[in-house]
Amino acid sequence: MKPPYLGRIAPTPTGFLHLGHAATFWTAFQRAREAGGQVLLRIEDLDRNRCRPEYAQAAIEDLQWLGIVWAGEPVYQSAQRDVYLDAWRRLRDGGWIYPCAQSRKDVASSTAAPHEEEPVFPPEWRCDPAESLAHESPAGINWRFRVPDHRRISFHDGNFGLITKTALSDFGDFVIWNRDDIPAYELAVVVDDARITEVVRGADLLTSTIRQILLHEALGQTAPRWFHCPLVCDSSGHRLAKRAAGLSIRELRAAGHSPQAVLDRLQERGTGAPLSSG
Ligand code: GLU
Repeated sequence: MKPPYLGRIAPTPTGFLHLGHAATFWTAFQRAREAGGQVLLRIEDLDRNRCRPEYAQAAIEDLQWLGIVWAGEPVYQSAQRDVYLDAWRRLRDGGWIYPCAQSRKDVASSTAAPHEEEPVFPPEWRCDPAESLAHESPAGINWRFRVPDHRRISFHDGNFGLITKTALSDFGDFVIWNRDDIPAYELAVVVDDARITEVVRGADLLTSTIRQILLHEALGQTAPRWFHCPLVCDSSGHRLAKRAAGLSIRELRAAGHSPQAVLDRLQERGTGAPLSSG
């Protein structure tokens, strides 16, 4: 029997939520409701240098104000380190990952051609995964996942259709644990999405989805279905950033807009009209 629909809403508390988040999170909530299911709320607060508890609290308030309802208590990734550590061990024991002395900066300066997204890690820099077994803990060095050479990986996106990317051309070995001993986004999200049936999130994460499919596979999990939402742009056509002046949910609330007015504003995207704070 198919498991009941379970989605999730996963803000990163590095700033206030803006209209772009509202659009994605509202879509996630709607899709769960239409399927007779629920969403969980997960606070992605692993990066202790950039995340702040006051932004997490503000996100919870803003989501509640919009009328989004989630099942149970919010889950804080920062409280689940042991679960990610267990996944790190399984990947190490399975020979999927290796310790890597090169930083992201080294990788960026190694590639001559400018790359659309993250530069591809040069495969000649790979270490032997057998070296991993000497490490009892991931701390002190970056850990990368070894992608299958030249494999084409596809998935069907509920919104964009068939997406295909090729390992070593579109993306390379990626970090799953950072040298400052913080689990990387790709690993944490896959561990947490193990029982999620559909992931709804922004289209900026399409390539991440391909990486995550590989991680689901390596961890022996069934990957969820995927639905990526178009990104919301400001009046000059730039993707909204956390600092987007006048377009944070907070500011719209303070300016006296109702939740319905904010949701109606999101409909403007359908007409291609840029969003403005007025
Ligand atoms: N935490 C990410 C964000 O706030 C979303 C990640 C995801 O949905 O996988 O944009």
